[in-house]
Amino acid sequence: MIDYHIHTNHSIDAEGNIDEYCTQGVKVGLDEICFTNHCELDPQRNDALIQFGNHQQAFTRKALLRMQNEIMEAKEKYKKHGLTVKFGLEVGYFEGIEPQLQKLLHGIELDFLLGSIHCLNSVCIDSSKECTTYFTKYTVHELLDNYYSAIKELVESHMFDSIGHLDVYKKYGLAFYGDAIKKAPRDVLTGVFRLIKENNIAFEINTAGFRLLDEFYPARSIIQHARNHGITRITIGSDAHKVADLGVGLQEGIEYAKSFGFDAVYAFEKRRPIRVKI
Ligand SMILES: [Zn+2]
Ligand SMILES: [Zn+2]
Repeated sequence: MIDYHIHTNHSIDAEGNIDEYCTQGVKVGLDEICFTNHCELDPQRNDALIQFGNHQQAFTRKALLRMQNEIMEAKEKYKKHGLTVKFGLEVGYFEGIEPQLQKLLHGIELDFLLGSIHCLNSVCIDSSKECTTYFTKYTVHELLDNYYSAIKELVESHMFDSIGHLDVYKKYGLAFYGDAIKKAPRDVLTGVFRLIKENNIAFEINTAGFRLLDEFYPARSIIQHARNHGITRITIGSDAHKVADLGVGLQEGIEYAKSFGFDAVYAFEKRRPIRVKI
C-alpha cells in the first residue's frame, strides 16, 4: 500500500515530523510514502511559508534543500525497515506561478509533484475562515466554472504529475450552496478530462474527504466521467496533516478505485510514473 499525499510539520497547518510519520508508516504496514508538503507561492497572500520546528520562514530554495536533505536521510534510514520514502510537494497552483515555480524547483530532486487548487482570486476556498468571502461573491455555477478553468490551466502548465483533491470545493461549498455544488456541468467536466487524457496527468483519490465528509475526493459521478473518457492514471493519498491519519482510508480508497475498473495506482520516482497493480 502506498500513500502519496502527506504533510509533516514543515507545512504550517500540519503536525508530526518526518521520523514520526516514517515510524507510523512501518507500524501500519505501508510499503511506500511520499511527503507532499505545501508549497504556496502566491505573492498576494501571506502563506508562502515553510516550517522547521516552531520556526516559520519564507519558502526559499535554501529551505527546500534543507527539507530535501531531511527526507533523503529518512529514505536511507527507513529502507532497512522495508519502507520506501519519496520526496514530493503539493503546489497550490494559481495562474502565472510557472516561472517562479520553475526557478524554485531547478535542481531539486523531486520524485513527485502534486498540483492542487486551494485558492481562487487568491482567496482560499479550502479554508473555513476564508471560503465565505469567495462564496458570497459568486454563484455556484460561477464557482464551478472558475475552479475548473483553474484546473485546466494547471493541467496545461505541464508541470505536475497528478491533480490533488479534484472536487475539494465541496468541503465547505456543500453547507453554503447545498447539493448544487455536486453538479459540475457535464460539458465542463468533459473539457477537463479531455485535457487530462491528452496531457497524461493523473488525478488523485484523496481519502481526507472520506474521513471528513464520508465521501472521497473526487465524488463517484466525477470519477465515472473520468472513466468514460478513458482515464487510467490515478494516485492515492490520505492527505494526512497529523501522524494518526497516515494511510487512513487507503484500503477503502483502493476498493473505491477498483469499483470503477481501475486496476493500478501510480507511484513516481524522480518524476517518472510507476504502475502499481491493485
Ligand atoms: Zn490540498
Ligand atoms: Zn494536502
